[in-house]
Amino acid sequence: MAQYDVGIIGAGPGGYVAAIRARQLGLKVALVERDKAGGVCLNVGCIPSKALIHQAEIYTQAHELTELGATLSLKGFDYQKVYKKSRQAADTLSKGVQFLLKKNNIDYISGQASFKDKGQVIIKKADGQSSTLEARHFIIATGSRPRELKGFEFDEKQVISSTGALFLQQLPKSIIILGAGVIGMEFAHIMNAFGVKVTVVELLDQILAGADSECAAKMRSIFERRGVQFYSSTEAQKMKKNSQGISLSLKGKGAPPELSAEMLLVAVGRAPNSEGLNLEQTGITTKKGTIMVHDYYQTSVANIFAIGDVIDTPQLAHVASKEGEIVVEYIAGKKPRYKRFPDSLYPSAVYTEPELAFFGPTEEQLKEEKVEYQKSVFPYRGAGKSVAIDSTEGQVTLYFSKSHHEFLAAHIIGKHATELVHELLLAKHAELLPEDLADMVHAHPTLSEVSLEASRAAEGWAIHI
Ligand code: FAD
Repeated sequence: MAQYDVGIIGAGPGGYVAAIRARQLGLKVALVERDKAGGVCLNVGCIPSKALIHQAEIYTQAHELTELGATLSLKGFDYQKVYKKSRQAADTLSKGVQFLLKKNNIDYISGQASFKDKGQVIIKKADGQSSTLEARHFIIATGSRPRELKGFEFDEKQVISSTGALFLQQLPKSIIILGAGVIGMEFAHIMNAFGVKVTVVELLDQILAGADSECAAKMRSIFERRGVQFYSSTEAQKMKKNSQGISLSLKGKGAPPELSAEMLLVAVGRAPNSEGLNLEQTGITTKKGTIMVHDYYQTSVANIFAIGDVIDTPQLAHVASKEGEIVVEYIAGKKPRYKRFPDSLYPSAVYTEPELAFFGPTEEQLKEEKVEYQKSVFPYRGAGKSVAIDSTEGQVTLYFSKSHHEFLAAHIIGKHATELVHELLLAKHAELLPEDLADMVHAHPTLSEVSLEASRAAEGWAIHI
């Protein structure tokens, strides 16, 4: 039986990146996957959803041609083709990961893994055969799945999960989305763009919990203008199915007692994939299924590590990948810069139109933590590029400390926010100050000038306002 330095369970952005980095550091690696290489992100998450969003943008922009006098006919428009394009993007990237794994001489094993003990994993293959994998270290990167809500169970026909939503080949006429988090809002954007009547029901008062409340409120009003109906502070209590679709009984401020639609998308979070791994056999500690980790993402068993959606850090692809890098560098005897990557340095991104992107605490959190901060805001409309491309809606908000002016957080709502955020994040990483950014020449006209002006505003001298 081959002895590996590292056995990795799960080939999502956590597991496959860890495997490649481990090979680069000279470790002998086996990677076990029960489904497709690339995990949720490439197959049923980030990539196909962004492909749908891209098609939705083309569809919306096509309508803008009428402003130029064109007569537009959408005859022949076929959502199934949109769906197919999203699958092509996912498949291309999944194959790309397989290529990278081969190129890096990683032993890729198809099958479902479970622990025999802390040094061995049993792999059950689709044909019923099983094999044993022995390794000095294991990394659990088994990810997560859509969280099911009691009383609103998925049938993937009338009541769908995000995975079901990605595999729709025909859109419903109307949909209720339960949950106004990132996934719920991205699907609200896609469906609304393609003409579906969208209603979003959210338990909390704010949509996009975790985002700055000012940005979230702006996003809500932009969506409302496009016809998306929101019921926040509202609980869906019961669901009934009928031949037309589903109906929900609601309880909340301003919500009707009953709401009907052809379909219900339940997007209320993700549950960690930790059952079936036989963790009891190893002594690994979990809390409601989430694997608990210490420094360097080490579990309660010294040679077993866990990363990505299965642990208690933000459930994002780039978070899983970064954690994977840190773990294998630690195993290889390198000294990673971080024992645990700080949450405040992870960017978050919402790929709606406009986009939302941020890092660091919200204003509410700064207040709660009694941090002495200053705030500077600059609107998109102050940058010439936003006018030229007809995207004036949005703003960059910077939070920096009162005492030393270092960056605490940045929150952007607007066109290409998910790209713009990285300049500000680099500034924080490199411990630069707003005055450094204000001093830096930005090409004109660009949307990056909004960040430049927000930095100048932090110094009290924004020009274009
Ligand atoms: P996963 O990607 O979940 O991969 C885990 C892998 O482990 C899976 O392939 C699974 O089959 C395998 N596995 C599980 N158990 C076993 C076992 N016992 N044996 C063998 N294999 C096993 N994040 C972003 O950063 N940006 C986005 O734009 C974004 N968009 C998203 C859109 C949607 C609709 C969804 C659902 C998610 C999105 N996410 C996004 C979240 C992102 O997909 C996850 O955070 C990321 O995939 C987590 O990576 P991971 O490696 O931890 O796990």
